[in-house]
Amino acid sequence: MPENKVKKYFSLIEAWAWCDICTEMVNIRVDKDEIKAGLKMGIYTKEHKHINPYPDPEDVDDISGQEHTIYIYIDDNYDITGVRSFFGDSPSMSEVGGPSIKPGGEVRIPIVIKEVQPMSVQLGMISMDEYKLLKVCDGMNSVEQCAEIMQEPVDMIEDMLDKLRKKGLVKVIRRTSE
Ligand SMILES: [Zn+2]
Repeated sequence: MPENKVKKYFSLIEAWAWCDICTEMVNIRVDKDEIKAGLKMGIYTKEHKHINPYPDPEDVDDISGQEHTIYIYIDDNYDITGVRSFFGDSPSMSEVGGPSIKPGGEVRIPIVIKEVQPMSVQLGMISMDEYKLLKVCDGMNSVEQCAEIMQEPVDMIEDMLDKLRKKGLVKVIRRTSE
């Protein structure tokens, strides 16, 4: 699969992100101001609904001509740190974890159980990194994918999740992949 790419301009970025459903690069433009505003809330995610204009007419399993969504996680350097493609409102549990999970392998999916306000960071109740991690625990990412999006080692994410779990803010769902 080709690598995601970003071209950075003065006030916007142009991104090419790999869509697993289209099996094509999807091209979008995003204002830097929009990204900066999103990052203040912890993390920026671009949600982009689209259809594949050229689905394979020979392939009956190619349903990329139906509307679907691509989620692109973008960091403070305007680089893409994660991409998810799915039909409907969110990926089904069985899709979380990505193709790297072996059949019978265990996927751990952290999910926020209590919303916290940005104020919690100012009050010192949680760190900025923990706040950011909560935003990534959107049910679409395994622990490993959270680490990828946060650009931090998995160990560090595990430690942070432990703290957040003790504070009653997240739970980690375990699923065995089919
Ligand atoms: Zn697509």
